[in-house]
Amino acid sequence: MKILFFDTLKRKKIIFKALRKKMVSMYNCGPTVYDRPHIGNLRAYVFADILRRTLEFNGYRVKQIINITDVGHLTSDADTGEDKVEKSAREKKKTAFEIARYYERFFKLDIKRLNIKTPFKFPRATDHINDMINLIKILEKKGYTYKINDGIYFNTSKCKDYGKLANLKSKKNIPGVRVEFNPQKKNIHDFALWKFSPPDVKRQMEWNSPWGKGFPGWHIECSAMAMKYLGKTIDIHTGGIDHIDIHHTNEIAQSESATGKKFVNYWLHVNFLLVDGKKMSKSLGNIITLQDITERGIDPLAFRYLLLTSHYRSLINFTWNALSSAQSAYFNLLENIIAVKPLSSKDEINKIRIEKIEKIKNKILRIINNDLDTPSLIATLWEVIKSDASLSYKQKFALESDKILGLGIKEYFINLKVNIKILNLVKEREKFRRQQKWENADRIRKIVFNLGFKIEDTKEGPIIKRIFK
Ligand code: AMP
Ligand code: ZN
Repeated sequence: MKILFFDTLKRKKIIFKALRKKMVSMYNCGPTVYDRPHIGNLRAYVFADILRRTLEFNGYRVKQIINITDVGHLTSDADTGEDKVEKSAREKKKTAFEIARYYERFFKLDIKRLNIKTPFKFPRATDHINDMINLIKILEKKGYTYKINDGIYFNTSKCKDYGKLANLKSKKNIPGVRVEFNPQKKNIHDFALWKFSPPDVKRQMEWNSPWGKGFPGWHIECSAMAMKYLGKTIDIHTGGIDHIDIHHTNEIAQSESATGKKFVNYWLHVNFLLVDGKKMSKSLGNIITLQDITERGIDPLAFRYLLLTSHYRSLINFTWNALSSAQSAYFNLLENIIAVKPLSSKDEINKIRIEKIEKIKNKILRIINNDLDTPSLIATLWEVIKSDASLSYKQKFALESDKILGLGIKEYFINLKVNIKILNLVKEREKFRRQQKWENADRIRKIVFNLGFKIEDTKEGPIIKRIFK
């Protein structure tokens, strides 16, 4: 079945065609590890995970890279300001490497808790300095670079289609660039490939290079690592929409100038998560972390559910009320699915015929292959749950959908243990009901409730549902 993605470069939905038959290469710009990721950052990785799972559901293997930016990302996108990791180290009185490794661990923990699949690799910028130097050498040889007081820069005027991703020709002002313009730069959009260590302050992270001691510019790491692990042309590259104008624009310029080949076939960008109508960001002091969410007793997967009820290209305005409603809906969903029919002799879920499973799969594909329409998939899942289909059909549909949604349905389902004591209680209750001894039947229902399960009577007989709170 065809897959449609909205490609930022083509500015429309286009049919996805992989470079290889069975494998898709995908690079997701990773976190800058100077602080805990906030839930806006995490939206970017839930989105990348949905993308990966959708491709897998379509039968592809996905070679996925999420890099770890542990050097070179400055407080301003215009190659000025302090290195974010070094700044955090100074403020927290730790070494830059300690800070980077510490927050890398938090990032990995958070994405685990959000049920985001582990990528093929999490390469760190600091482990790839040589790859970056080699790439800059190629650019130098081809005449794309020049040297000024604080580093080696990429000359954007040498690159014919510079700015095609951001459509820069139609934009007069790029935020962040004009403000802190270094007068030695030849063109306003030129960017640093290698920065020299400042003469007055001792940097913790610095390396020797053919041009002098220093550190890489932020953009070069992604080109170097993407090409090292995925090849000169890759299928998919993602990030937040804030990366379009500068970071990804510069990745394209330096990669394509170095190789003479198209760098990325599909560019996908996730929209912002806002708080009180403003972008969540550290500089605005409005950040919320996954830890803040769990400290309020909210399940991380309820946050994932909340994210998936909006399309990835829409803004999400985060509120605690919306999150708590999402948690109720999520638990309600689980309650409807994580259930057993205690009196049916065989495991009915396995009895659903192959054709039916194919139909379920196709129904899901038709929805999700339309540019990752998770809100429609969730809406359809609810329609199925509320329909008068059998419990086994509903469960099969939920389990298949969960291969994409990743809401932990499968894990709950596998771990659903309705012990023999509860089964016997339900059998006893059935006996009372047949004898029309309603009081006794109700008494058993209460006992079962206190054990964490509820009994619902349906035309298929009683169903035991696990209670989620
Ligand atoms: P950073 O750690 O700043 O390099 O960002 C990591 C990822 O999070 C990037 O893909 C950003 O584009 C993305 N991002 C940053 N802020 C937000 C936000 N408020 N909403 C959604 N994505 C964001
Ligand atoms: Zn990047």
